[in-house]
Amino acid sequence: MPKYFELVELPGRQHFHCERLRATLSTDACGDRWKAAGVATADARWITCKSCRIGARHAGEINANPSPFRAVKICARCHLTASRLIAKHLCISCYNRQREQVIGANAKGTKPVKLPPLHRRSISYMAGGKLKTETIDRSLDTTELIVAVLRDERYAVQFGWQAPAGVRALLQFEGGHA
Ligand SMILES: [Zn+2]
Repeated sequence: MPKYFELVELPGRQHFHCERLRATLSTDACGDRWKAAGVATADARWITCKSCRIGARHAGEINANPSPFRAVKICARCHLTASRLIAKHLCISCYNRQREQVIGANAKGTKPVKLPPLHRRSISYMAGGKLKTETIDRSLDTTELIVAVLRDERYAVQFGWQAPAGVRALLQFEGGHA
């Protein structure tokens, strides 16, 4: 917990020294930054605030999802950020690959080859004190579900299993939570 104080010029507003930004902030400004960071695109300016638990508390969120993936327009399948996501899940490229597989042909009328078969998968996790299950009818692998959950879940997520090595590498962005 940071130490709080009032500034003579701004009585009645709580301030603190933010270690991450190396600046004095009011708790309101801090909470507002955290909220803005949550909906910002993958912009380096906001990364600092996005995963900050102090910011989440100042915004009135208890146990907020601290993942840097939270609310980012990231394609759950290829893990690239996109200007928009189809059905809030896939980039246009992955969506088109999937569509080709579903209809059995690519734009040129030949059999699609690039995409491995997609399968229905589910993953269970704890968030906000509730056991939840995410199911995706057409998914490439379990990583796709994990990225989707970390991106879309409001509350901090606990998966009840040991993630495979490839996923742990992804999760290292979370500061050692994996
Ligand atoms: Zn993609």
